[in-house]
Amino acid sequence: AAAVDGERIRAFIRRFAEKVAAQKDELTALDAAIGDADHGTNMDRGLQAALERLPGEGAAPGDLLKAVAMALISKVGGASGPLYGTAFLRAAAAVAGKATLEPGDVAALFKAALAGIQERGKAGRGEKTMVDALAPAVEALDAALARGASLGEALAEAARAAREGSDATIPLVATKGRASYLGERSRGHRDPGSLSATLMMEAAAETLAG
Ligand code: ADP
Ligand code: MG
Ligand code: MG
Repeated sequence: AAAVDGERIRAFIRRFAEKVAAQKDELTALDAAIGDADHGTNMDRGLQAALERLPGEGAAPGDLLKAVAMALISKVGGASGPLYGTAFLRAAAAVAGKATLEPGDVAALFKAALAGIQERGKAGRGEKTMVDALAPAVEALDAALARGASLGEALAEAARAAREGSDATIPLVATKGRASYLGERSRGHRDPGSLSATLMMEAAAETLAG
């Protein structure tokens, strides 16, 4: 498989933005049930702004990821802007200066993104947030690469783990973010951020490996 270069990272960012645009109404409907009905519009606005600001052809992976971070931080308010913004900023820092990424660098990028979200948001697993999709995805990515899977296989497993983690938020009670204001009434609904995080991992699986 060819190396993960800037153009692959650009394709990943585009695919993430496409998926969010396509599922904007679904993301917002989920947030209507347990939040303030803006997760789809928030993420779509931020990612469309990111696409407009991406550096041109030949840009390094870290520069592209950093442009996404800046757009999300400046265009998306609420919880998800700073959280995803921090994730992309940390991801950018994890691969700074590299023109191409090895599978281990891709794993490091997602691990750094998750660490940034957890430092900023203080959510552990089981609190009904995007962490419930991302943490199992990062774990699956690492485990697959450690046993010698290809990057494509490892990312596919990570995306499946994210989806399962998101499904598993449905019966949980939220203890972070706006949904936590509902207490027991947050039970029975999928966490919207866990779906956007799943779309991010699915976008990665579809674009980063050759
Ligand atoms: P807001 O709640 O400010 O309207 P969004 O609706 O865009 O922001 O994003 C809500 C999502 O953010 C939630 O579904 C959840 O996944 C995520 N979230 C909220 N608080 C936290 C946190 N402390 N840590 C991790 N994720 C969080
Ligand atoms: Mg909201
Ligand atoms: Mg809001």
